[in-house]
Amino acid sequence: MPDANAYIMNLMKSIIIACFVCCAMILSSCGQSTPTNNSNTTPMDTSNQKPNNPYYSHTDTTKLTLSDATWKSILPTELYEVSRHKDTERAFAGKLWNFEGIGTYYCAACGFPLFRSDAKFASTCGWPSFFEILHKNSVEYQPDNSYSMNRTEVLCGRCGGHLGHLFDDGPAPTHKRYCMNSVALDFEPDKKEVTVNEQQHDTITLGGGCYWCVEAVYEKLKGVISVESGFSGGTTKNPTYKEVCEGTTHHAEVVQIIFDNTITNLDEIFKVFFTVHNPTEVNRQGHDVGTQYRSVIFYRNHEQQVAALSIIKALNDAKVYDKPIVTAVEKFTEFYKAENYHQNYFENNKNEPYCRMVIQPKVEKFEKAFKDRIK
Ligand SMILES: [Zn+2]
Repeated sequence: MPDANAYIMNLMKSIIIACFVCCAMILSSCGQSTPTNNSNTTPMDTSNQKPNNPYYSHTDTTKLTLSDATWKSILPTELYEVSRHKDTERAFAGKLWNFEGIGTYYCAACGFPLFRSDAKFASTCGWPSFFEILHKNSVEYQPDNSYSMNRTEVLCGRCGGHLGHLFDDGPAPTHKRYCMNSVALDFEPDKKEVTVNEQQHDTITLGGGCYWCVEAVYEKLKGVISVESGFSGGTTKNPTYKEVCEGTTHHAEVVQIIFDNTITNLDEIFKVFFTVHNPTEVNRQGHDVGTQYRSVIFYRNHEQQVAALSIIKALNDAKVYDKPIVTAVEKFTEFYKAENYHQNYFENNKNEPYCRMVIQPKVEKFEKAFKDRIK
């Protein structure tokens, strides 16, 4: 352990007290045109949504049944014609047909997650093409016998909006080709890709009980660029908060922290982590009980893994807590952002009893222990 940890020991002893509860036209023409081959990866404005679309959500899985008039009022004209009237954009005309950014593709009409960039392939048809959908409910299918052809239409699994067609001439492993209208898709780059300077910025994902609490604290730490509340470590893709609460997804409530290494560092991130939650409780924090509240560090690389194991050993050796630390150190696989109302929960709900009684004391404890490190 680096000698800096002597400081942690003393710090921990003085500040760790009983933690409270926390907290796609005719696509048969594909391949007959000659595409220009300048694929691009530059993040760009690929958003086709209108800012006043109140139904747009990446996490809401409730089926949308809206009147044609409502759709017309909330969608841009081109999207409305494709999504609601099965129009098809011209080949090679959309923003995404040769786009290669890393991230997720959503239904532009309702925000529902549809495809990941790693399922996109370079197709010469002039429309964005994927060999696989993101999850089994992402889309729905229906026979399309228009233009005297037998095709399979692909519709959004949430809003039923027309996306394109499905063909059996895609690449391995599925040999499927989801031939989509570019205008029907929104692309959002993975968070890491938008990081301005990857050498200075680092990301860590931590589970310390209720994410409202942990997020509230890290939002205040100098050097922290962003904190998002969400779920990691489980088996269900794109889980909802409700599913996670039921305890069957195996996800933990986590915060994903992007920080500037020149202002803070892993050591300090971990110090804060072990200060604001009780790492000796198995699958609970105070009155919040369940595997979703487990104490866990999801590491992205060897350095993070070693740092996490080191601090845990040091804290155990120094008997900072009266019981052994149970914090799991697991390899990061995926982070699913929680519904929007979970983000910045403490800031937006300061008068709620839970915030005043559970989160506020944790924030105050953090502010006291790290008073020189507050933004
Ligand atoms: Zn949709």
